[in-house]
This record gives sequence, C-alpha cells and structure tokens, in this order.
Amino acid sequence: MNHKPFSPADNIQDLQYFGEFGGVNPSISDSSTYTFLSAKTMFDTFEGNAEGCYLYSRHSSPMNLYLGQALAAMEGTEAANVCASGMGAITTVLLQLCMGGGHIVSARTIYGGTYAFMKNFLPGLGITTTFVDITKADVVEAAITPKTTVLYCETVSNPLLEVADIEALAKIAKKHNLKLVVDNTFSPLSVSPAKMGADVVIHSLTKFINGSSDTVGGVVCGTQLFIDDLRNVNNGAAMLLGPTMDSLRSASILKNLRTLHIRMKQHSYNAQYLAERFEQDGLKVVYPGLESHPSHNLYKGMINPEYGFGGMMTVDVGSLDKANELMELMQHRNLGYLAVSLGFYKTLFSAPGTSTSSEIPMDEQKEMGLSNGLIRFSIGLDNDIRRTYKMMRTCMQDLGILKEALSTL
Ligand SMILES: *Cc1c(COP(=O)(O)O)cnc(C)c1O
Repeated sequence: MNHKPFSPADNIQDLQYFGEFGGVNPSISDSSTYTFLSAKTMFDTFEGNAEGCYLYSRHSSPMNLYLGQALAAMEGTEAANVCASGMGAITTVLLQLCMGGGHIVSARTIYGGTYAFMKNFLPGLGITTTFVDITKADVVEAAITPKTTVLYCETVSNPLLEVADIEALAKIAKKHNLKLVVDNTFSPLSVSPAKMGADVVIHSLTKFINGSSDTVGGVVCGTQLFIDDLRNVNNGAAMLLGPTMDSLRSASILKNLRTLHIRMKQHSYNAQYLAERFEQDGLKVVYPGLESHPSHNLYKGMINPEYGFGGMMTVDVGSLDKANELMELMQHRNLGYLAVSLGFYKTLFSAPGTSTSSEIPMDEQKEMGLSNGLIRFSIGLDNDIRRTYKMMRTCMQDLGILKEALSTL
C-alpha cells in the first residue's frame, strides 16, 4: 500500500499547464462567450454534458478552471470553483446547501461578514443559525435539530485563533447527515480539512493564497458533484448569483499561488519568533504555536509541520486606547500597516473589536472573549525578524505597555 503523506504543495507543483504558444504560463482566455462548431453541441453544453466545452464565462472559463484545479489539488478535493471574493464563495455554498430553508450550526467566533450573513441576512430566507463554542463537541451536538443541514467553522478562527477539531466535527456531521463546511483561510497548506473529513473547504483567496493585497477572490473546494451543483444553469447558486472571477485576475492569483509554500513558512517562522518573545516579555499573546494556547496539542496534530502554526497572532494590550496608540506608533516606525486583511508581505494590524468583528454586538464580543485591547497581527515576511522584534519592543516600552505587562508577571 502507498502511504505517501498528503503533500499539498507538491500536488500544486505537479500540475503542468502550457500556454497556447508554448508559454510557461497558461494563456488567458480573454472572452466572455465561446463559439460552437455545431448547434447540437451548444444544446448539450446547456444540458451539462459536453465535457471540455466552454459556453459563457459566468459558468466557467479556461483560466478559472486552471486556478480551480490547482486549489482542488492543494485541498485534495475532486474539484473547485473560484469566486470573485471569499464572501462570494461562502454565501453561494450556504445558499446552495440550505435551499428551501434550513438550519446551520456555526462556530460563534468567525469572520464578521460570515457572521452578519448568517445572523442578519439568511433569516429573511427562512434559514436560521445557532452559534456555538465550536471547541465543545457536546455543545455542538446539542445544537443540532432535525432541520440542521450544515455544520460551519473556521479551522483557526478569526480573530480569536480558536482551533476547530475538524476530525471530531466530521464525525458529528456524518452521524447527523450534515455537510461540514470549513473556512480554511488562515491555514492554507498547514491544514487540509478535506483530508480530515470536511465536505466543503472554502478560502478567501484575498489573504495568504494571493498574498499581495491587490485583489479579492474566493474558492469553494469539494466533490465534483457539489461543484457541478453550484454551477448548474438551472439552480446553481454560483451560476445564478454570479460572483464570477475575471480571467485576468485568476491568472495573476495562479502565479502568486506558486510561491505560497515559501511564504507560509516565512510567515509562520516570523510569527512563532515574535509570539515566543512577546510571551516571555509578559504580554498576553495568543498564538497556536505557543504551548500556552488551549488547543496547542490538538493543532500540532492537525498541521503539516513544514508550514508551522501560521502567520496570525493576537496581543491584548489592555485597552482600546493603548491598542490604537501602539498601532499608530508601529505604523509610524514602518513596522507594518494599520489595516484590516491578512497574508501580506508587510505586517498588518487592527483592533478587531472595532473593525473586522464590529458586526458582532458588544455583549457577544465580551462573552466570546474578544476584548477591546486586542490587536490582531498578520505577521509579514520580514527578512530579519529579530530586528523587527527589537523595534516593536521599543514601541511598547515607549508607550509604557511593556512595563505594565512585566509588572503583572
Ligand atoms: C477575509 C475573510 C473572508 C472574506 O473574504 P473576502 O475575500 O474579503 O470576501 C472570509 N473568511 C475569513 C476567515 C476571512 O479572513
């Protein structure tokens, strides 16, 4: 038997596409519509059974299929459908799986946009959501009702960096005949949710995968059957709602995907270094690579160790005022940018309670442990992280943050 471990970066590298004229990159198809040599083939394509024929670019296009193939290879799924944004991927999946009304059991610490969609938008369509602490299997199972169709989580949650036990959740999903949908945006290559039993894996390509903060994009990875459902001309959410990525953009994302493995290693190396030092300095750091993280051992068993524990970490500096002062000073000293989003070459920081998670009401933020002084860091690709650490430490000393942290030790 062949027990070759699953290697997402090798799977991407093994795919070979040539351009129309022998180019080392595939040619970009600059067309919204495609001709047919016979009218009969056009009819067959509408019926969904003309393999290899293109019809219209909202349905599929050569470059979107190339990028989709590469991302399916990365996640180890049969197929994938790229979308114009991560939210385009998330909303089409949920609408497809909850057609005709339904119930979702979701992690309560998730991306603010996903939370708002479930909480405020879906109830208008008869689809309701129960938000739970995803780290507690009994709580998750107790929330399942006869109407439940979807179990939803993020591998590593935004912004609190809670870890979902995907294998355990997949067992629960199977037992109750639910689809387990996992947003893997924070941990590409590190974690392969489909290999642990997830039915659908979603990414916002906007973040690490594209990595250059120049576009939004998304992808849905799943079975060929599910991807075909999403693209169905009669009732497919991706086809009918139309969050289609442009071919020029999918070409540029495919090129950036080529360096993802190198970038993820550097993001993780830098974040692990900073998290360890800041923790020693007495700061309240949350990073899955620290032994103090409640799910450190679980996550250690889930990751492909080559890629480490990822580039995301949080530091709680006590109050929103301090957080804002620190972020402004770090930006002033060119240590990163005060910006939302993640996965850029430069470190990005924001205070999620008043930005990316502001959709979540204050009392709920408090309950889930999202405090005002929390800063979310997406650690960059800094060449010399020791130098960065010293400069960040100086910023904290200058603002009296480090002295306070040390005195509470
Ligand atoms: C950014 C993000 C999204 C949304 O993606 P967009 O590309 O901005 O639409 C979804 N989930 C997570 C975890 C994200 O970080």
